[in-house]
Amino acid sequence: MLGIFDQDGLDVQDIVYFGLYALQHRGQESAGIAVSNGNEIIYHKGMGLVTDVFDDQTMASLSGGKAAIGHIRYTTSGDRLYANAQPLVTKYKKGSMALTHNGRLSNAEALRSELEETGTIFQTNLDIEVIANLIARSIDLGLEDALKKMISMIQGAYALLFMTEDKLVAIRDPLGIRPLALGRLGNSYVIASETCSFDTIGADYIRDVKPGELIIIDKDGLTSIQTPIPLSSALCIFEFVYIARTDSTIDGISVYMARKDAGARLAAEHPAEADLVVGVPDSGTTAALGYAEASGIPFGEGFIKNRYVGRTFIKANQRLREQGVRVKLNALRRIVKGKRIVVIDDSIVRGTTSKKIVEMLRLAGAKEVHMRISSPPVRFYCPYGIDIETSDQLIGHSYKVDEICKIIGADSLGYLSQEGLLKTVEGSGCDFCRGCFSGNYPTDVKNEKE
Ligand code: SF4
Repeated sequence: MLGIFDQDGLDVQDIVYFGLYALQHRGQESAGIAVSNGNEIIYHKGMGLVTDVFDDQTMASLSGGKAAIGHIRYTTSGDRLYANAQPLVTKYKKGSMALTHNGRLSNAEALRSELEETGTIFQTNLDIEVIANLIARSIDLGLEDALKKMISMIQGAYALLFMTEDKLVAIRDPLGIRPLALGRLGNSYVIASETCSFDTIGADYIRDVKPGELIIIDKDGLTSIQTPIPLSSALCIFEFVYIARTDSTIDGISVYMARKDAGARLAAEHPAEADLVVGVPDSGTTAALGYAEASGIPFGEGFIKNRYVGRTFIKANQRLREQGVRVKLNALRRIVKGKRIVVIDDSIVRGTTSKKIVEMLRLAGAKEVHMRISSPPVRFYCPYGIDIETSDQLIGHSYKVDEICKIIGADSLGYLSQEGLLKTVEGSGCDFCRGCFSGNYPTDVKNEKE
């Protein structure tokens, strides 16, 4: 998601469009942009990629704004319905508000039930509709206090953008689980899920929004309010493994450097006798470079990726995921034929992709296939907005490493240790959530399904 409060007469809708385009890897189910012209909020949203949802006509209909927020959705809670596309734009007694949210609230159901008990009617399954209602109920306290009250009531992972006719608000959850960064484009502030979008729109990165920070931007500038925060933060370490784009920086750590270091550490932890190191594009490629450099085994381009196919992990169901792998990647026969290959991928979630990758390399003539994974086994579900709904979907939950090796058909398999992964993000000054690897979560999630 991305938001801008304009101070320079910019075409805010175009800036948000290009920013969302750079963030497309974070979600492919739906896209939307809401624009405030100072008097009212207008919006357009739909199902599909940014380029599917917006055309010249819809972009023209959004022109003339002073502030805008946009969102691309990766289904985390709620059904895949148009009604659940974001931003959520709704009216309340002081005017209109638009909201977008990344992450997942762990007490959304309880809050929703409480609100329903007192007569609130919901139109979507979105956590963000609960948030909108909490803000609207307290708005007589003033916007700042209504936001603080809402923050005191919600739990879980959230990076939130909120816009009224004359204000843009950004909030990061007290543990900083999901990333959120602040940038500047001329005299205008921008806020985005990842810094790679700043590069695309020509903005300068200023800093990350702090855990528990509430930022309010209006024509008079930026106000930062620090709400009470826990003793330690818990940034999602999976951002560095898979989710974020390699050219982003999160909480002071370059995703590229972390991935390359993960590859080097993997080479030390799980060496292999081989002729060539190849990476599974895109997020495995950087770790493969690190593995090759550290091991002295040459790096080669073993796969060609069809750039027009979405990330398989994000696809909605198993059938689509299986088809997705086959159309997405092709092994380069000329490069891998007759060789002992070390193939590096960022993670194994369900095992679907890894099995196909090993098959593809063997069909292309690889003599041996040694799979190396630049993160530990994903063994537990994620309660914070990553689509790993139940632990039993995960191959790492049900099988040991040697069993997984057999299932995917590799000659050997090695995962980076949790200690090794933590070393790759050393120096960030924050702590990390590693729940999907360790089963230990930074918030109380005992009552949720595992
Ligand atoms: S459980 Fe895993 S994917 Fe979810 S927030 Fe924690 S580290 Fe990230």
